[in-house]
Amino acid sequence: MSTEKNIVIVGGGFAGTTLVRELDGKLPPGYRLLLISEESHTTFNPMLPEAVGASIFPEQVVAPIREMITKAHFIMGRVNQVDPARRTLTASTLAGDITFAYEHLLLAFGNRARLDLIPGLLEHALPLKTVGDAMHIRNTVLRRVAQIELETDVDLRRRLGHFVIVGGGFSGVETAGELIDCLASIRRYYRRVAADELRVTLLHDGPRLLPELSERLGVAAHRSLAARGVEVRVSARATFVGDKAVVLGDGSRVATSTVICTIGTRPNALVERMTVPVERGRIVVNPDLSVRDTPGLWALGDCALVVNARDGKFAPPTAQFAVREARHAAACLLATLEGSPTRAFDYKARGSMAAIGHRKGVADVFGFPVTGLPAWLLWRAYYLSQMPTLGRKLRIFVEWTWGMFFPTDITHLRFTRSHELDAPPAPQADAVSGAPRDISIVARAA
Ligand SMILES: Cc1cc2nc3c(=O)[nH]c(=O)nc-3n(C[C@H](O)[C@H](O)[C@H](O)COP(=O)(O)OP(=O)(O)OC[C@H]3O[C@@H](n4cnc5c(N)ncnc54)[C@H](O)[C@@H]3O)c2cc1C
Repeated sequence: MSTEKNIVIVGGGFAGTTLVRELDGKLPPGYRLLLISEESHTTFNPMLPEAVGASIFPEQVVAPIREMITKAHFIMGRVNQVDPARRTLTASTLAGDITFAYEHLLLAFGNRARLDLIPGLLEHALPLKTVGDAMHIRNTVLRRVAQIELETDVDLRRRLGHFVIVGGGFSGVETAGELIDCLASIRRYYRRVAADELRVTLLHDGPRLLPELSERLGVAAHRSLAARGVEVRVSARATFVGDKAVVLGDGSRVATSTVICTIGTRPNALVERMTVPVERGRIVVNPDLSVRDTPGLWALGDCALVVNARDGKFAPPTAQFAVREARHAAACLLATLEGSPTRAFDYKARGSMAAIGHRKGVADVFGFPVTGLPAWLLWRAYYLSQMPTLGRKLRIFVEWTWGMFFPTDITHLRFTRSHELDAPPAPQADAVSGAPRDISIVARAA
């Protein structure tokens, strides 16, 4: 039996994968590094809107975790139980439940999408938090446009072609920009769909878009979206989401068959099952990212409530901070193993960026605003730099460059297996099965 002590990281997102790369091969003798995550890959969440808008393929926003590690071990599994008193955790894996003893446990399991903020959201809205969500939304959009071609009811056609996004933060703005550009570029393949039958509306309950960025960039993003035809509605709070419409705070209705939700997060279920201090749904940590009153436990990234010593404020739940916190946690852990003192997390943000459509972006770099193509190139360059291995970087670079010069891909991959081929098709929005219809009526839209 191995006498090595386990240092375990839970979660293979921005925080967990940075942490494993920082610690891999650097632990003192007698320690083994283990990363447990529920997927075999890490997801570059900020690029999910580009996968929705078909600017890139879903496999270009993920990277396999095993390619990122050399000496560390990786186990694909979901951690369900942590016992800080006994220093053990239990994970559901492909080989059943396995319990591990740990010397130090670093929690970096992020958070989940929240779908109870508005009545009807859970039943009728499409969240955007995972690569599966992005593929589902992309397929839904392609299905809706294909369905419009076959419908003759004018109101139904308009509703099917209206995509409503709830939330004017980073992901909402990015999704709106991607979607409007995607619809504009794919319409040529659907000749019975008129340009004015495809619309995107962005609903935001605050006074301006992108509250995370400077007002100037929020305004620039608003102008850019509006110029491309997105109906941007600020100070518009959605109060109910149904299968045919979204109801707003002033009682008005926005007819739509597709609502994409980019607001709200809820704590990971594991937080609720652990006896650790929690505030605002996040694990409360000491200045060095160790968990308060719980020896051997650390937390970072979106699942942790971290105070930035630089300004005394809570660190925002962003990729940039998750990466910085991971580097800090790695240094503090190594110091602890050596018996040296640890330091408080202290970081000056470099700026923020958002891609807001095909080859368009806004960025705030060291306090300087950048917009348009330069901002978008900066954005892509940053995420390319995060890809593991030179081979993968080159492959993704070639694929991204290819995508810049060739039409948007409209493949609707359904993963249909042989035994499902003759099964009845899944019902579509308001489809009237078997109803006779005259396609020539539809043809007037071409
Ligand atoms: C659509 C979208 C757009 C965004 N845009 C931006 C942006 O433009 N800029 C920006 O800075 N930030 C953006 N963010 C936020 C950013 O992605 C997060 O702040 C960042 O991913 C947090 O990193 P993390 O490692 O803490 O969590 P995550 O990246 O969420 O990783 C958590 C990991 O833990 C795994 N996990 C969860 N539970 C368990 C469990 N029980 N057992 C094992 N593994 C588990 C998950 O599978 C995942 O791999 C965006 C997020 C989304 C969803």
